[in-house]
Amino acid sequence: MVAAGSAVHALSAIRHWVFDMDGTLTVAVHDFAAIRRALEIAAEEDILDHIAALPDAPAQAKREWLLDHERALAEDALPAPGALKLLRALSAAGCRLGILTRNDHALAKLTLDAIGVGALFDDADIIGRDEAVPKPSPDGLQQHLRRWGIGAAEAVMVGDHAYDLECGRAAGAHTVLVNLPENPWPGRADWHFADCRALLAAWQGAC
Ligand SMILES: [Mg+2]
Repeated sequence: MVAAGSAVHALSAIRHWVFDMDGTLTVAVHDFAAIRRALEIAAEEDILDHIAALPDAPAQAKREWLLDHERALAEDALPAPGALKLLRALSAAGCRLGILTRNDHALAKLTLDAIGVGALFDDADIIGRDEAVPKPSPDGLQQHLRRWGIGAAEAVMVGDHAYDLECGRAAGAHTVLVNLPENPWPGRADWHFADCRALLAAWQGAC
């Protein structure tokens, strides 16, 4: 589902790949509506923003509930279609891999280990919600760029949500949308693939 020949060529040239985790590298299991109900957060409100705005005690209680809930999800995580092959192929080709997640850092590591790709990521290349302003802010992606010593045009942000694409756009990086059959956010993704298997096929075809 790649539009332009020049875009195909550019994809193969990218050596720095930042991935969202939940729903991008794993099968999406977060039931955000249920999380909002459990934490008494309005449907239209951002979960992390809501918690950040609370006084210390209730914020801490909700953070701990969320961590417990997400720990159980992390332990049972399953890889998204094609995600493992994609990550291994990129790593074998010498590409630099990073994670930018609104999940917790330790739980991100637990999740990556659970699906068998933890060894592909340096600890410093995993940025969770406590290390950066959460997406859609470009803060975490910009941290990756600074640490890797590269410009935004040399990196791609891969995700399954508008926040991932907005983060990538705001940083000036390339953007890839995966794991949705259609693209609900035209104009925000440079490439759109049904899943990581299709992304890998396009990347290999472009090499
Ligand atoms: Mg996601």
